Amino acid sequence: MAKPLSAPSPILGQHLPVELMNTVWTNRQGIHDALASPDVAQRWIEAIRPRLDLPTADDAEVLSQDALVRVRALRDGLRRIAAERTADPREQPVSAMADLETAVQVVNETARLAHVWPTLTVSADGGITDDREPAGAREDLLVATLATQGIELFSRKADLDLRACLAPGCVLYFIKDHPRRQWCSNACGNCARAARYYARHGRPNPERGAPVPPPSSSPVHPTETCLELAPSSVTASKN
Ligand SMILES: [Zn+2]
Repeated sequence: MAKPLSAPSPILGQHLPVELMNTVWTNRQGIHDALASPDVAQRWIEAIRPRLDLPTADDAEVLSQDALVRVRALRDGLRRIAAERTADPREQPVSAMADLETAVQVVNETARLAHVWPTLTVSADGGITDDREPAGAREDLLVATLATQGIELFSRKADLDLRACLAPGCVLYFIKDHPRRQWCSNACGNCARAARYYARHGRPNPERGAPVPPPSSSPVHPTETCLELAPSSVTASKN
């Protein structure tokens, strides 16, 4: 299983292309890119690799600099497409890839880097077993699998409701998998409720400390910037 606490960005249990989009994230220190440096990017890869179920999985494998560049480009492409799909109104940087056609091209080309083919094998006792055979460079298989899942996420057949999280300060995406779900995480829901409270009742006295949001049963979400935002920022949210 993945180890969320060791990942350099929020791992929310979302579809992997969404987790990849969310390698751009925020906290009180600002906006971060979990793929900006090879060491940190490798930590993210290791956090999600078990969920990819690749036939040639090698937990010790370190991706090359070229492969990491392709992962970053894929992430930026997916974020651009997600921004268009969700009509993302956020002012925070949405994607380093401004052009939608370029984004689609990058995702498609990345998906073509490698594939996994189903195969049949005759065993020593004459039985027939099935297996999977990779075609393409080993390290490209990981990137191509993420791209393929990204295409599936945005395909017309996908019945997934992708949303931009509109909690103050958040730059993450999530799948709305429940009619009442509005946020990427309980932590963002708490932030949004606190921000609404401040908008109605004013900021708390700093010497007495900020009101404590309701306890959350979800894992700690690093995007907890709302307590430092001005109430006016709430107007950017739809709720
Ligand atoms: Zn959020």
